Amino acid sequence: MGKKHNFSAGPCILPQEVFQKSAEAILDFNGIGLSLLEISHRSKDFVAVMDEARAIVKRLMNLGDDYEVLYLGGGASLQFAMVPYNILKVGGKAAYLDTGVWAAGAIKEAKKVGDVDVVGSSKEDNYSYIPKDYKVGSEYDYFHCTSNNTIYGTQIKEFPEVDTLMVCDMSSDIFSRQLDFSKFDLIYAGAQKNMGPAGVTLVVIKKEILGKTGRENMFSILDYSQHISKESMYNTPPVFPVYATLLTLQHLENNGGIAAAEERNIAKAKLLYDTIDNHPLFETYCRDEDRSLMNVSFKLIDDSKKEEFDAAWKSAGISGLNGHRSLGGYRASIYNALPIESVQVLVDVMNSIK
Ligand code: PMP
Repeated sequence: MGKKHNFSAGPCILPQEVFQKSAEAILDFNGIGLSLLEISHRSKDFVAVMDEARAIVKRLMNLGDDYEVLYLGGGASLQFAMVPYNILKVGGKAAYLDTGVWAAGAIKEAKKVGDVDVVGSSKEDNYSYIPKDYKVGSEYDYFHCTSNNTIYGTQIKEFPEVDTLMVCDMSSDIFSRQLDFSKFDLIYAGAQKNMGPAGVTLVVIKKEILGKTGRENMFSILDYSQHISKESMYNTPPVFPVYATLLTLQHLENNGGIAAAEERNIAKAKLLYDTIDNHPLFETYCRDEDRSLMNVSFKLIDDSKKEEFDAAWKSAGISGLNGHRSLGGYRASIYNALPIESVQVLVDVMNSIK
């Protein structure tokens, strides 16, 4: 069977070259006569992978030695707990922006660690927009936001100026657009969208923010400082996801970096949103100004066309277009690795529905 047009929200499409090279590494890594899966994480071949996987993130984000890069297990969801555990002071307070199910998950966990104020929320409007009229002052230990809301298809276009540390869950749009990454004190992202396979989470952290909570006797596995002091090898890292992530980031770097990826992403998103806007039968869920470049969540205005549309996109070789179970409708995830040709196939199918 030929390759499908994969609009899955994650795990999702990665560059074909990454699939190829990681398959080769599973059979014979670096020509050493051993699989990547059967060598020690302390071997020189894997330590080189981890070192480069950490270094390339700083190059792509243009960050200096004041930042550290970690590859951890536990998914982005573990970071919902690790972030407050490491930077919410004992007796302190954190500010969170509630822009969707994942943001709400982060809020729920942070509340188990300390005080949390939700400074803005679009929950009442089914998360159809990004709240903007809020202020975050120095009374908070940090501000937490979610840059891209994978389910609803909304994205923060302008990050607020806050008077405290800036923490961001970039799981679903990391490396998709140029940002001043030095504005952030802590960034985390599950790999399984723009970065690699599921099983590893990237954490980028400004070192100076650690060790200030007054929390004693921390669990070592949950302590960023422990992971940093062991160069992201405090325990056995998820070796295959780290390697595949490195391949994905090398592919990005070799193809014009984030700037070129952003250009491609803008072109793909424009093609799809223009089609939706010009089509009498489709509409997006969210406000135009907050539309995501990564996840295009949309629905049919006339549900009687559902059967016809579903049959048409499936027979065109499209996969992964169903919306998240909490929203319904459709979601076209157009991550870095998805070619514009796949978007064109979807657009042609949409235009065939009258
Ligand atoms: N944050 C965002 C923005 C997400 O999209 C997701 C999952 N899709 C998560 C967090 C949770 O990630 P994980 O499944 O890796 O814990």
